[in-house]
Amino acid sequence: MCKNKWCKKVRCWAFCGMTVFLWSGGIPASYGTGTNTETYGLVRVTEADYASSDVTYMLQNGEPSKTLFNKKERSFRVNRPLQISIDKKGELLVRFYSPRPIHDVVVWARLPEMRESFRLAEFKKIRPFAEIRKQLPVLKQEKKFVTRSGQVVHLKVNQRDFYAKLELEIACDDLLYRQLTSSSCGWEITFGEFRGDHCTPLLPAHAREAVALTLNMSVMFSSDDFRHELEKYEGRLFSDNRGTVVQTGELLKKIYSLKTLNCGHVVGINGMAAAGGGVFGFNEWCYLSHYADDQNKSHTIFHEFAHTLGYTHEGNMTYVNNFGRGWVALCEDTHTRMSLEKKLPVYSRHFLNTRKDRNRYGKDYEVPAA
Ligand SMILES: [Zn+2]
Repeated sequence: MCKNKWCKKVRCWAFCGMTVFLWSGGIPASYGTGTNTETYGLVRVTEADYASSDVTYMLQNGEPSKTLFNKKERSFRVNRPLQISIDKKGELLVRFYSPRPIHDVVVWARLPEMRESFRLAEFKKIRPFAEIRKQLPVLKQEKKFVTRSGQVVHLKVNQRDFYAKLELEIACDDLLYRQLTSSSCGWEITFGEFRGDHCTPLLPAHAREAVALTLNMSVMFSSDDFRHELEKYEGRLFSDNRGTVVQTGELLKKIYSLKTLNCGHVVGINGMAAAGGGVFGFNEWCYLSHYADDQNKSHTIFHEFAHTLGYTHEGNMTYVNNFGRGWVALCEDTHTRMSLEKKLPVYSRHFLNTRKDRNRYGKDYEVPAA
């Protein structure tokens, strides 16, 4: 241990220096509040904002079809469930597609001519399915911002194309956020108003479950658990009745390169899907019972998902056809285990409680007895 009396002083100074850095890289206590809003432009969203008209919620019962089925208003990528942008009115727009909240989100922004980004907004918590709109004070008058290195920069916005030029970056160490965004899948999830043979419109309750379902699938297919289980099926998955073996590496590539899943609702059949994911529809029971703590029935989901990858009813990628347990069993088993071990982001039916929701087609408000 160093006994030099200056060492302590230096460390103390270093600590203070660090504190100063954190305050300035972070925020002074009154930064963004009180009189400081006149000089600092940081947008800070706290619990109190959730009681204001700045916050609404997406995919809620009663959401109009023109919103729910409008891809510009309601769609997301499974590995980018948090969307942050600035619209033409100069509002910061946040949409979060998740049945569970995340905490401590910071938005950094940078104009092309700037050497480093500055702290534009921060959120103590982002609630499930929140849609947040906040005016940017910097659009009205000059504001100060703090850069990543702790410098204070003055920003005055008088450029009409400010919104297009500003680059935004999300920083969040929340475990759920990291789990969702590190997925190898980039499927774009949309909601389909299919009508006609075997189709009735998807309801908001189904849409919320479609978010849970696809986030779970995305994380599962990207996990070491799944890759490990898939290895055990090497040489045991067949794409046709001639016994053509599905190469597991190729299968993973297909899963990760799938572009879209357009979620819908079907009646009279269990599910419906099209190669490429343009249709990915389920009977209501599928949206309710996929959780391990519900009826734990996910076979239809993985059957239909195999169709989106281009597999037919031959081989054992959808049915068994005397080829032994195949794709559906592999996925069901892994899904159940990861759900029970809380390794899936939405591992329990209690996050959404959709069974208790009266705004759906069925009346099965409790989990049916096995
Ligand atoms: Zn089928």
